[in-house]
Amino acid sequence: MKILVINSGSSSLKYQLLDMESESVMVSGLVERIGEEKGELTNKAFPGTDRQKVTELDQPIPDHNAAMRLAIDLICGGDDTICSLDEITAIGHRVVHGGEDFHKSTVIDADVINAIEANVPLAPLHNPANLTGIKVAVELFPGVPQVAVFDTAFHQTIPPHAYMYALPYELYEKDRVRRYGFHGTSHKFVAGEMAAILGKELSETNMVTVHLGNGGSITAVENGKSVDTTMGLTPLEGLVMGTRSGDVDPAIHTFLARNKGMTIDEIDAMLNKESGLKGLCGMNDMRDIHKAIEEGDERAKIALGVQTYRNRKYIAAYMGVLGRVDAIVFTAGIGENDDIVRSRSLEGLSLFGVKVDEKVNAQRAKKPLKISTDDSAVAVWVIPTNEELAIARETKNILQ
Ligand code: AMP
Repeated sequence: MKILVINSGSSSLKYQLLDMESESVMVSGLVERIGEEKGELTNKAFPGTDRQKVTELDQPIPDHNAAMRLAIDLICGGDDTICSLDEITAIGHRVVHGGEDFHKSTVIDADVINAIEANVPLAPLHNPANLTGIKVAVELFPGVPQVAVFDTAFHQTIPPHAYMYALPYELYEKDRVRRYGFHGTSHKFVAGEMAAILGKELSETNMVTVHLGNGGSITAVENGKSVDTTMGLTPLEGLVMGTRSGDVDPAIHTFLARNKGMTIDEIDAMLNKESGLKGLCGMNDMRDIHKAIEEGDERAKIALGVQTYRNRKYIAAYMGVLGRVDAIVFTAGIGENDDIVRSRSLEGLSLFGVKVDEKVNAQRAKKPLKISTDDSAVAVWVIPTNEELAIARETKNILQ
């Protein structure tokens, strides 16, 4: 069984072809600058193996249809065809917002497309781009089953006391203003991996999953289900991220409008693109921040402090929410690679019996690594996330 995973952005198209027998990546590719004067495509056949072959193209790529055709040519055409078109069994699409309509991944039909469209107001940048990818794939792969895998679906088990905002109730009833949460595919994936490593049923495992990348969120997982998460109506709430503020006093908006004459759009752009680590110290990559701290940069030090303190507050809060915690799991770019962030995010959690083995924590591993001591009351693990594989597995499971 071969599954093509598609993540369609507004001007980009990421794809991966997986052989589900071995769960290995046959092709991974990225098309960028779609619709611009000069487009870019990087296609890697059998990435990371001796058979790796990289193809790079620089040419105008007018739209997603052209982008997908180029990708198909590289996968299924030419001298060294990787697989024939009719070998592709199914296509899995990443869709950011399923609103309250989708509690799990779903085979795409006209009703599903309409429902994704109906959720555009909740994700005005992402859902239209995801829909474009779906429509192009339906056109180019007629008859091949296509599955939508939603970032929000895993969090649909969050109970009302955690998803309701204390706002006039009509806003929820009429406009569906509530917490949805994101990164669900990643949280679900690492939760599943963690339960398997612990040798427990997922449905009997309690965890705090900590996804720290350029965007970041933490989820409380009770008996395998999401019961709370830090992101909200949009992916802006919660943690301090690369360029996103995370939690702020909502009155900051009125303050800025009244005292600085800022418009709604300016405030929105500032909170999403000019805040977070970048807002605090001018850098949004954690590697640069550590370097700057070594060179005595005070603001970089503050940024690291604010980011890790927020992580720690939420980890502790969710441990309180869960009562019993089998594991804390770190994942994504920072979570997988940054021992300093992990260590500082766990500071003070000795109250819960969390003990980190700093020697092991300092190690780099591309596979799951336990960083807590053997006598820690809660196991702490680093587990690499793999959203493409997660989407491919979801697609396979839904079709079976
Ligand atoms: P992601 O969104 O999961 O791809 O994560 C991207 C972020 O991970 C980057 O912006 C960096 O801040 C961070 N990152 C990646 N590699 C490292 C590393 N080796 N050490 C610290 N942070 C890293």
